[in-house]
Amino acid sequence: LSHSDPVELHKICVCVRKRPLSKKEKLKREIDVITISGKNVVLVHEPKMKVDLSKYLDNQPFRFDYAFDDFVTNEEIYRFTAKPLVRTIFERGMATCFAYGQTGSGKTHTMGGNFSGKNQDCSKGIYAFATQDVFLLLEQPRYKDLSLKVSVSFFEIYSGKVFDLLNKKTKLRIMEDHKQQVQIVGLREQDVFSADDVVKNIDMGNNYRTSGQTSANSNSSRSHAVFQIHLRRNHELYGQFSLIDLAGNERGADTSSADRQTRMEGAEINKSLLALKECIRSLGQNNNYTPFRASKLTLVLRDSFIGENSRTCMIAMISPGLNSCEHTLNTLRYADRVKEL
Ligand code: ADP
Ligand code: MG
Repeated sequence: LSHSDPVELHKICVCVRKRPLSKKEKLKREIDVITISGKNVVLVHEPKMKVDLSKYLDNQPFRFDYAFDDFVTNEEIYRFTAKPLVRTIFERGMATCFAYGQTGSGKTHTMGGNFSGKNQDCSKGIYAFATQDVFLLLEQPRYKDLSLKVSVSFFEIYSGKVFDLLNKKTKLRIMEDHKQQVQIVGLREQDVFSADDVVKNIDMGNNYRTSGQTSANSNSSRSHAVFQIHLRRNHELYGQFSLIDLAGNERGADTSSADRQTRMEGAEINKSLLALKECIRSLGQNNNYTPFRASKLTLVLRDSFIGENSRTCMIAMISPGLNSCEHTLNTLRYADRVKEL
């Protein structure tokens, strides 16, 4: 690692990534209202039109561990966010990396949930880079003798229910055993022996995730996708990296929709994102009350929020357009609250 690489001591890293204006947005003359200033400041500029929001909008700067401008590549983002966490799981740790933001802001693009050859968008993302590094570290002398085995699982949490993306979207149950260990009963854990193996598995899971849905209204924007890399030693869990492509945060506001199903899904998303914020904030503190149980998402990730050697990174994605301004501010405020105290 070079000296410009991230400090590895923090338990919580919170970053923001701005995506570029799309061709379509440019054609519609959408205005870019986001400026990334220096390494870690985000500014939201608002032409004085939306009176109701104006009190927040005097170019109030938001400060994060890193703020990535729209020209930064997935690989660079990986290097500053998830990469330091790969080492954590080789040191018996639990790591999580979240992509947070409104639908269309670049969560799946960043995680690399769509690098399949069938897709137009073939760029590699964090899933693939992290996997590559896991197999690289596995070969290093100091880890080689540990005989660690790598396996992956991939599931979706939709409306408070768990579906196995590596097993035909089978619906699964969450159980807590007498040691208060949280388990997803019957979740497929696929042994993998190379980065290519992993890519195949992600590809398969993605096909289940997105089948039949294309629009911004698709179910995938209403579900959390959890991709996990497990390291096991003599069958016992040694370290685990969870990479999570969260539901679109704007869905949490669907609570006044006319459609009952949509309302309930919105309430569930809202609940899980609020619980997630609290659970992350509790990392590294001796909190008596951490609301793991408030949502399925936080419950299945419970073990990643406790323990000495747990670390997390949140990448908040923002769309640059004026039309997204309100959602962008919500995203920035949420990310701001997640930061280490
Ligand atoms: P989300 O998963 O948050 O709903 P996506 O990742 O699907 O959003 O991104 C929406 C669209 O924007 C996709 O077509 C994607 O390829 C494009 N996109 C997102 N981020 C970037 C980026 N940093 N550079 C170029 N295109 C991007
Ligand atoms: Mg997506």
